Amino acid sequence: MNTFFDEDVAAQWMRVRSRLQAEFGEAAYRSWLKPLVLRALDDGKVVIAVPTDFMREWVEAQYAQRLMDLWTEENRNVRRIEIVTALSTSTGQPRPQREVPVPGRNATTDHNGAAIENLGAPLDKRCTFDTFVTGKPNELAFAAARRVAESSEVTFNPLFLYGGVGLGKTHLMHAIAWQITKQDPDRRILYLSAEKFMYQFIRALRYKDTVAFKEQFRSVDVLMIDDFQFISGKESTQEEFFHTFNALIDQNRQIVISADKSPNDLEGIEERMRSRLGWGLVADLHPTTYELRLGILQSKAEPMGVEMPPGVLEFLAHKITSNVRELEGGLNRIVAYASLVGRPITLEGAQEVLHDLLRANDRKVTIEEIQKRVAEHFNIKLAEMSSARRSRAVARPRQVAMYLAKQLTARSLPEIGRKFGGRDHTTVMHAVRKVDELRGLDAAFAEDVELLRRMLES
Ligand code: ADP
Ligand code: MG
Repeated sequence: MNTFFDEDVAAQWMRVRSRLQAEFGEAAYRSWLKPLVLRALDDGKVVIAVPTDFMREWVEAQYAQRLMDLWTEENRNVRRIEIVTALSTSTGQPRPQREVPVPGRNATTDHNGAAIENLGAPLDKRCTFDTFVTGKPNELAFAAARRVAESSEVTFNPLFLYGGVGLGKTHLMHAIAWQITKQDPDRRILYLSAEKFMYQFIRALRYKDTVAFKEQFRSVDVLMIDDFQFISGKESTQEEFFHTFNALIDQNRQIVISADKSPNDLEGIEERMRSRLGWGLVADLHPTTYELRLGILQSKAEPMGVEMPPGVLEFLAHKITSNVRELEGGLNRIVAYASLVGRPITLEGAQEVLHDLLRANDRKVTIEEIQKRVAEHFNIKLAEMSSARRSRAVARPRQVAMYLAKQLTARSLPEIGRKFGGRDHTTVMHAVRKVDELRGLDAAFAEDVELLRRMLES
């Protein structure tokens, strides 16, 4: 992102960030500050984007002043800061709205029910056990979630689900909530994110309303906290959560927690909390396999009722490996595109519509790999990639490697230059132009470059 700014502003922003990190600590930095993206510095106004409205409120309340101070120290022109919400999934599509209110008994008439509804977050009605596709990577988590949802007695407490982004943690939590409501509409369920828990708690502190806050939380039958990693670091919130947690467990109420890491690996969590989190059942969601991705795609494509020629879903399952949300996004895009332009879906069409997504998924290639491959291909020593020698026999391959680094990674020109023996970004720019020019003039050379690119991308 920083490539849009001149290097001064980018460097200033880097310094602001690293000072925030030093001042607020690693855990807070990672949860709240690292996701900030500098969007613009325009006419004295710094525009910073965050992914969600909630984060915007939080950052405004907790960090805006400090951000402002640090910016003005760095840059005398800065007079104002604006924090905006920017949805930025790499599919370019906004995340679906969670549509349905939290199920709670007599939510409108019952005092506590209404309160719970306000505290919690809505559930997505598409996220049920029926729509969750299982395979080796998620079968344990799925079975554990089902067990917790279906049994009338509390067996595992807490149920702790963890795994990487977009692997189905939230889906499973919503599924548990729907299943419990279906079986027993009288059970009070409170589902919310850890961010929201913290936010509510801090609000309660501010308005001196902590008694009511505690009562609300302690009156539920099932407490579900999503993305627990966001609670780390905040001692007072952890303390409060710990008490609520213990109170609920003592009363044999079910707790379900999700996080991006196992209790042992969560950072910034107190030791007693950590060990308590592992008391029940800890189940992880592994990265998806090709088979699971294909299964998920088939189950999502079917109800769309569109004709999928053979190979399209396989292509998607093969290419989009990072997470299920992106996989879904890719499928939706193909279907939307076909219906918009009124042409049947084809494999070529799919590749074309998704080229940016595919690029993003291919970004895993590192500059080191590129250098290694290119050196091998041209039969020169890897060390020549960073050497000062300028003879054509080494300079040309080096230029090809720089060119591919620009094409296949998200690195900026200066970053690439640094990896090639500390060369200047203008050298990299020159290499990119030169290779482009040669590709147009020399078919054999163009083929070489293409071959290398395909090898690196596969
Ligand atoms: P997480 O909370 O782990 O980041 P989500 O539960 O939000 O991930 O999942 C991201 C998207 O992928 C959701 O739309 C979800 O319904 C879908 N999804 C994830 N895993 C599966 C699965 N096994 N079967 C069907 N859909 C899935
Ligand atoms: Mg989630």
